[in-house]
Amino acid sequence: MKDENCIFCKIAAGEVSSATLFEDEDFRVILDLNPASKGHALILPKEHYRNLYDLDEALAAKAMVLAKRMVCKLKDALGCDGYNIVQNNEEVAGQSVFHFHVHMIPRYKDDKVGLGWHMGTLTEEDKEELLNKIK
Ligand code: AMP
Ligand code: ZN
Repeated sequence: MKDENCIFCKIAAGEVSSATLFEDEDFRVILDLNPASKGHALILPKEHYRNLYDLDEALAAKAMVLAKRMVCKLKDALGCDGYNIVQNNEEVAGQSVFHFHVHMIPRYKDDKVGLGWHMGTLTEEDKEELLNKIK
């Protein structure tokens, strides 16, 4: 399935040019146009899925295997010191392009990439509520 209004569908299909690092029958891996750090890349499935909620399960598994392979190669090419794998779902979580994608963000010592959050404390109430709901 493709969405004719979706820029990532067009990029994944090769209809819009991109800096492609890798391609197979399921995915295209491209450099992000607005990188958080040098080498920031995106894994795009060739089929359109809005985000992780909709993503085909077999493709979800393949995306993680591909991320693993790509970062193992890219870390040597870039000489980075670490990696963040980030995947945003819905606007409130930072998703701006509504075609599933995985960010691979190389990290360098003393870089100023801001991906942190304030660490709270798990309360008994929240823990019990969720454990009971999810059973
Ligand atoms: P997200 O905010 O998780 O939806 O991430 C969307 C990402 O896509 C951002 O990091 C953008 O910089 C990137 N992006 C948007 N349009 C393009 C494009 N045409 N080519 C490459 N990267 C893009
Ligand atoms: Zn799409």
